[in-house]
Amino acid sequence: MRKLTVEEQLSVLGGARWACKTCGYLSNDHIFYSTASDMAYAHKKKYKGHETVVRA
Ligand SMILES: [Zn+2]
Repeated sequence: MRKLTVEEQLSVLGGARWACKTCGYLSNDHIFYSTASDMAYAHKKKYKGHETVVRA
């Protein structure tokens, strides 16, 4: 069975989440999109060059 892509993992999970396409990190569920967005931004700042995706 092939591994799900980050986008596919986000699509099957509920809530506002973000994930990192570079290191494969998948966040916990956030109530607000803005929280997930802030966390994703912080991750990008911490790990230069990582590409994150945020899902409301
Ligand atoms: Zn990362």
